[in-house]
Amino acid sequence: MAKFITPIGEIAIIILGHASLLIQWEGKNIFVDPYSKVADYSVQPKADLVLITHHHRDHLDKEALKHITNDKTLYVTSIIAQKEISGAKGLKQGEEFDYNGLKIEAVYAYNVNQKRDNGQPFHPRGEGNGYVLNFGGYSVYIAGDTELIPEMKELGKIDIAFLPKNLPYTMSDDMFVEAVKVIKPKILYPYHYSELSEAVIKSKLPEGVTLFTK
Ligand code: ZN
Ligand code: ZN
Repeated sequence: MAKFITPIGEIAIIILGHASLLIQWEGKNIFVDPYSKVADYSVQPKADLVLITHHHRDHLDKEALKHITNDKTLYVTSIIAQKEISGAKGLKQGEEFDYNGLKIEAVYAYNVNQKRDNGQPFHPRGEGNGYVLNFGGYSVYIAGDTELIPEMKELGKIDIAFLPKNLPYTMSDDMFVEAVKVIKPKILYPYHYSELSEAVIKSKLPEGVTLFTK
């Protein structure tokens, strides 16, 4: 767990594995892409808010949701994921949701190079979301399943970035480093990876970026 100070309160970030996170802020438990294959959700606190980037089963997992949600839980999801969760607030890229003063913006997440055998990208543009969580000017970028895309140049100041690194679904090691150079986060969390050489990644990072893995 790591803690960070924002203008609207301290946040604690707990890495649950794969693309799954728990962000605790002002007594609220905000889960991102809870996935039962990587963590025991029966021991997690109840979710006040769940963010779901897209409908793939490693991101939208009903088994994990069953343990952490109740009738007070709010959901912010992609438009396709919204169809599977009653009462969810579906966001298109560019749309925002205000959660008690925390501004959540949906941003693009998609494949440029990586495609299925039938020629379709694993993640077509416009389907899934990344999210920028704006804590009073302190921003946390959760990239979702994406490659390096032109829209990353428009993200503005990013304090913490979660970037995926696995082939064929997201980024190669080299593309991951290129994405870091474009986004220039102060703190970098690789996520959604199967293997990670911390030493190699660290040696390639631009100045001013600190690598966090837990
Ligand atoms: Zn996916
Ligand atoms: Zn995924």
